[in-house]
Amino acid sequence: MEAVSGRDTDTAHNGCTSQGETDMRPLISAFLDVLYPPLCIGCGLRVRPHDVLCVRCIREMLNLPLSMEVSTLHLASLACACDATMMLVGWEYEDGGVLERCIHAMKYRRLHQVGEWLGRLLGEGLVGNPLLDHNPATERPLLLPVPLHRIKRIERGYNQADAICRGLAYECELEWDHNLLLRTRYTTSQSASRLDRDERQANVRKAFTVNGLRAEQLRGRPLIIVDDLVTTGATIGACVDVLIQSGFSDVRILAVARPPRH
Ligand SMILES: [Zn+2]
Repeated sequence: MEAVSGRDTDTAHNGCTSQGETDMRPLISAFLDVLYPPLCIGCGLRVRPHDVLCVRCIREMLNLPLSMEVSTLHLASLACACDATMMLVGWEYEDGGVLERCIHAMKYRRLHQVGEWLGRLLGEGLVGNPLLDHNPATERPLLLPVPLHRIKRIERGYNQADAICRGLAYECELEWDHNLLLRTRYTTSQSASRLDRDERQANVRKAFTVNGLRAEQLRGRPLIIVDDLVTTGATIGACVDVLIQSGFSDVRILAVARPPRH
């Protein structure tokens, strides 16, 4: 079981064909762009191929500072005590905002390219950030998408956190892994349910487990857990807990968005 490199994944997707073959994909892609021109998810205007939002809609996104001072504030505001060493969030989530449209497109319309694009946009802002630092004695931090239960992944078609990790991995030249952290219990949808804070925590507690064999292979490595939207932090906090209980001491959190009041 090897971690997946962002660059490797990109090569595999865009990639090289064996000698003698003609790669028709760029031609097919260009043809599809003419038939179905890519449109901004925010306003519907035409955008460049592989883009998700136009420049004007990107400017509407509310950037959150990617600083260690704000990391401390994020951690302090989580519903339950969390031993994560850092927590950064890319943007503030606004009801009805362009980011809400992106997250809905990713979750409910199976548009994995939206997740990859958000991951790359977030990754651009993380160049040189302490979130990506590592001790010379350890390997670079490893990205871990918050896993979906197998049944929910089948329902949704894919895990949107995987797509975000793929974009981040490419932009930050990191590896990501989906064999270490596992989801073993099916929990009800956090966004659809009307659970209060305590009920949410109980709902996700014990939902996650760690693959012991993989943990041995990755022992000592800094980890960055990645999710799309963090509200109370019950889900991501449960992930941090189980990883720390399994012997990892440096577990960091990275989310695409967070609402202003949680
Ligand atoms: Zn737009």
